Amino acid sequence: MKAYYDVIVIGGGPAGLAAAASARDNGIKDILILERDKELGGILNQCIHNGFGLHTFKEELTGPEYAGRYIEKVKERQIEYQLNTMVMDISSDKTVTALNREEGLFTVKAGAVILAMGCRERSRGALNIPGYRPAGIFSAGTAQRLVNMEGYLPGREVVILGSGDIGLIMARRMTLEGAKVKVVAELLPYSGGLKRNIVQCLDDFDIPLKLSHTVIDIKGKERVESITLAQVDENRKPIPGTEEEYTCDTLLLSVGLVPENELSKGIGVELSPVTSGPKVNESLETSIPGVFACGNVLHVHDLVDFVSEEASMAGKHAAQYVMDKRQEEEKVIVVQGEQGVRYTVPSTIRIGKMEDKLPVRFRVGEVYQNCYIGVYLDEERIQRKKRQVMAPGEMETIILDKEKLMENSSLSKITIRIEKE
Ligand SMILES: Cc1cc2nc3c(=O)[nH]c(=O)nc-3n(C[C@H](O)[C@H](O)[C@H](O)COP(=O)(O)OP(=O)(O)OC[C@H]3O[C@@H](n4cnc5c(N)ncnc54)[C@H](O)[C@@H]3O)c2cc1C
Repeated sequence: MKAYYDVIVIGGGPAGLAAAASARDNGIKDILILERDKELGGILNQCIHNGFGLHTFKEELTGPEYAGRYIEKVKERQIEYQLNTMVMDISSDKTVTALNREEGLFTVKAGAVILAMGCRERSRGALNIPGYRPAGIFSAGTAQRLVNMEGYLPGREVVILGSGDIGLIMARRMTLEGAKVKVVAELLPYSGGLKRNIVQCLDDFDIPLKLSHTVIDIKGKERVESITLAQVDENRKPIPGTEEEYTCDTLLLSVGLVPENELSKGIGVELSPVTSGPKVNESLETSIPGVFACGNVLHVHDLVDFVSEEASMAGKHAAQYVMDKRQEEEKVIVVQGEQGVRYTVPSTIRIGKMEDKLPVRFRVGEVYQNCYIGVYLDEERIQRKKRQVMAPGEMETIILDKEKLMENSSLSKITIRIEKE
């Protein structure tokens, strides 16, 4: 390993792999990927179901197959990577401190850093479920790793709390492995997962989905013996008299993902309170010049294809940053969400640096039917797109046209709103 690399990528999941390949394709020779796991590919290695890559490769791949395509790109380009290497710290002068068995604790300096650490699952501790702490309570992702990579079945009679995509996929997976999934309970009045996953993972296997329900009790001292569900009111408080007890030996929690941003906090990048990921501009550059972010560490994606697309952009901009250190000052335009739009990525744009067509991604805060997405340059509406259904579980995208933005020299903000009429 050298003491200096033009670009260092933290994380060898689909975001890190695509970013590194793109940095190479955009002229950077010295690139290093640091990955804490024993192999490249990130969370995709445990996602053995199909459904990946429809946008990127126009075919349905499994998670490992999709990751394999990008691992191949990294190998073809002879990009250096270190496995079993945990990045511990990044300082503001872009010195990366990492740890592995061969080198011990070491530092390596970067011209630009790409943050691609992915996200982790929210735990039971964050949920305050009452009851004992018996064995048999797993996060859905842990159960997925146990079943798909380590060959263990975590239980035989299962209740799942949370209808995000991982929970839905694990409902099907556990059923296919011979377990009985009794119910999937969701606190909100709508599912947090993709519609296709509700159909393919629950409906096709007659697994009931109970919306506006939560776990109010867990019984069992050594191992889970039963859980009690109750319906919740509009304030998410259990409604007395609606309790139902389910005997089971396993409770899987699929209650959300949180971007893995301890390193980002350490280096001092500004984080969004909505996404818990870094705030970025049109180049996916954080508040620290030369530090870029992409993939689930930036905001939780539902489709890996968009992760790869975003990460390729981050790699390209990191390459440009390294090759053109003259970062001349440019006017910053704020991009903001209003009226049902929870956040936007990016949240600022410098027109001179943006792509001709820039995707802006966002999520809505509740389910909307027969509504419009309105895009405004200051107060002038420039786009209006009809959407039959929008839900928090499905990421939305609008495309901004550079030429159109350039026509408006006094532009100060771009607003995206959900409109009923
Ligand atoms: C259960 C599940 C099912 C999914 N199903 C689908 C699907 O059907 N279709 C679809 O398109 N998408 C699906 N996705 C989404 C897709 O897998 C993710 O969007 C994608 O993997 C995100 O890529 P990433 O590189 O940002 O994160 P990850 O894949 O999580 O990769 C991050 C990498 O960073 C490494 N890392 C983190 N911190 C450090 C550190 N300090 N030092 C070194 N390395 C570090 C991690 O070990 C990891 O390898 C699913 C996701 C999950 C979790």
